[in-house]
Amino acid sequence: MLWSKTFIPTLKETPEGAEVPSHVLMVRAGLINQVMAGAYTYLPLGLRALKKAERIVRQEMDAAGAVELLMPSLSPITLWEQTGRKEAFGDVLIQVALKRQNRKVTAVLGPTHEEIVTDLVAHQISSYRQLPITLYQISTKFRNEERPRFGVLRTSEFLMKDAYSFDVSLQGLNRSYQAMYGAYCRIFDRCGLNYIPVEAESGPIGGDASHEFMVPAGNGEDKIAHCRACGYAANLERAEIGARAPEDHLPEPEPVERVPTPGSSTIEQVSKLLGCRPRDMIKTLIYVADGKPVAVLIRGDREANENKIRRALGAKEVALAEPAVIEQVTGAPVGFAGPVGLKQPIPVWADYDVQYMTRAVTGANEADLHLRGVSVGRDFRPDRFADLRCAADGDPCPRCSAILRLRPCIEVGHVFKLGTKYSVALSANYAGEDETLHPIIMGCYGIGVNRILAALIETTHDENGILWPVSLAPYEVVVVPVNAAHPESVTVAQSLHDELGRAGVDVLLDDRDVRAGVKFKDADLIGFPLRVVVGERGLQKGEVEIKWRWEASAERIPVQDAATRIAQWITEERETGSRFRASRADAEG
Ligand code: ATP
Ligand code: MG
Repeated sequence: MLWSKTFIPTLKETPEGAEVPSHVLMVRAGLINQVMAGAYTYLPLGLRALKKAERIVRQEMDAAGAVELLMPSLSPITLWEQTGRKEAFGDVLIQVALKRQNRKVTAVLGPTHEEIVTDLVAHQISSYRQLPITLYQISTKFRNEERPRFGVLRTSEFLMKDAYSFDVSLQGLNRSYQAMYGAYCRIFDRCGLNYIPVEAESGPIGGDASHEFMVPAGNGEDKIAHCRACGYAANLERAEIGARAPEDHLPEPEPVERVPTPGSSTIEQVSKLLGCRPRDMIKTLIYVADGKPVAVLIRGDREANENKIRRALGAKEVALAEPAVIEQVTGAPVGFAGPVGLKQPIPVWADYDVQYMTRAVTGANEADLHLRGVSVGRDFRPDRFADLRCAADGDPCPRCSAILRLRPCIEVGHVFKLGTKYSVALSANYAGEDETLHPIIMGCYGIGVNRILAALIETTHDENGILWPVSLAPYEVVVVPVNAAHPESVTVAQSLHDELGRAGVDVLLDDRDVRAGVKFKDADLIGFPLRVVVGERGLQKGEVEIKWRWEASAERIPVQDAATRIAQWITEERETGSRFRASRADAEG
């Protein structure tokens, strides 16, 4: 391809509104163009990279035995009502009113396709003989995200690979899940991503039923807890915490004191007013678990974890109580609840941190009043202690003696054992060997294809631009004649381009009549893995200069076998990615 014949609108300046490197670089390198918040055009270079990611995903899905189909973006709202997800998705679900002759039809633009695929299977599969099967597609999904941002990291319309497995037994589901998990590892490896599979909230099946594939990145919107020593990794909803030891010097207990805190109800306000640290306070949260109120105590500087609370209580549903309920059980307005002197005798669960607190500040169950000097065990005794909060940086690892670090990450993929939620809701049953009917056991598996690119760029760039692995690069090689007015340079560059093309290399010839400096800058910005420079001086010695984008120095090689050698390197690198990986390992030290 000739530069002059394609469309690469590169930019010198940082585009307005672009906050993170991947967004800045994708716009500057001419990969994408914003149409509105959350919707982007993929320009020719961006589309080439996207198609390469898509191709890797497809190859690995096929290799893992999944079967491709394509479902429509439009589906009837009734399907989403049947599974309760019209409600669950809320405003994220994009609904469109269609006029069909005399009827009005409400359709949904699919944010994912569990409903549609399960409905398909409900109609087309009836016997255990047709199972197991894993179906997948690569298609555009629509989500009215509250805050579409960070370029293509979070958009309202994006390309997802979504796969769904259908099995007759839990063992079968585990096999299907493992096949997808393995395929995900190969996909992200081939894409040159540095990723961590982390345990995620598992829903109804419990156990080890869900993993997210996370790319550590400063601007990631998700947080994981990670132990570098043993490799334990989980997202914050899920992360367990190791045994918590008491502090070395517990303050001596003191008498309880009632302190006025007019208008101060939050941890921040009260700690400011009383001059105490949030960690010396106890938050008393009133939850309603399966219809019954319960008090949950969390140290002031920590976050309650609703999933852990739900599991500890053995409840189906848990939610923070409404103000009326809080007032009823505490006898005080919201913000002044405390474990001492609750008006109603409700169960009190405390996080392990609370166990050793000797001089805590808590609400007094009276308006505008707090207690100081509250000692656990002396002034109140929780019914149970449990792990009820989110992991924090520096917490003990639950698997070894090291500590957990919190790391911001980008979620690029998710695998999930669904169980029978959708098959029950949509009557996707199979007849077993004995002719009895059972709901099909499902798994679902998603990858954000656009996010692969954004996550790669977010974590793999330098001050000059993007560093692509060969596997995803829009073009693998750029050929740059230094002087477009020097006939021999132009001829040699053109024939290198032609030969490389014939050898199956994705090659771009920068045939523009601009200064060499401009061409080099653009080549670095876009990040072609290999740059071949054809210059007058080099040609006098019969040489051209080659440079890998991620290496500091260039190398000269003879013109006559340049094309053969380059084609060989590129083919190798396309398959192994070993040069790229080695350079990344060096960069990370
Ligand atoms: P997030 O928590 O980031 O909103 P999610 O957990 O809702 O994502 P899933 O439903 O698990 O996403 O979708 C599967 C994959 O699709 C995600 O792992 C992610 O890579 C991608 N994805 C989800 N939402 C978006 C979006 N708005 N823009 C781009 N990619 C997305
Ligand atoms: Mg997810």
